[in-house]
Amino acid sequence: MSQDTLFLKIVRKEIPADLVYQDDLVTAFRDINPQAPTHILVVPNHVIPTLADVTENDEQVLGRMLRVASQLAQKDGLAEDGYRVMINCRDHGGQEVYHLHLHLLGGRPLGPMLARRG
Ligand code: AMP
Repeated sequence: MSQDTLFLKIVRKEIPADLVYQDDLVTAFRDINPQAPTHILVVPNHVIPTLADVTENDEQVLGRMLRVASQLAQKDGLAEDGYRVMINCRDHGGQEVYHLHLHLLGGRPLGPMLARRG
């Protein structure tokens, strides 16, 4: 079923990706369609479909995702100027891949968080 996500195949190295980090809980790789000079995705090594599906049991992996994002931002030289971390959730959030992931974006000024309406 939905357990076999695209990102799970990347975690298991069944399909290629530009991996930048992996540990017992999370994997990070560069987005295939980068929206900024640095665009890295950090995902749990097991499938949590969306942020709306997280439970108390996921607190450790959620914390790890943020800490790894912070470390990778530092490593890519983003920490001083700053960067953005984003999670899209379900339909209205524009989520395309139903395997929880955070986007780490930086390397240029990123502008307003949302396109302005009208
Ligand atoms: P979201 O809209 O938050 O679900 O983001 C999904 C992201 O996954 C998009 O930014 C895609 O460019 C990215 N993506 C899709 N397929 C791959 C892939 N095979 N390797 C790396 N990134 C991917």
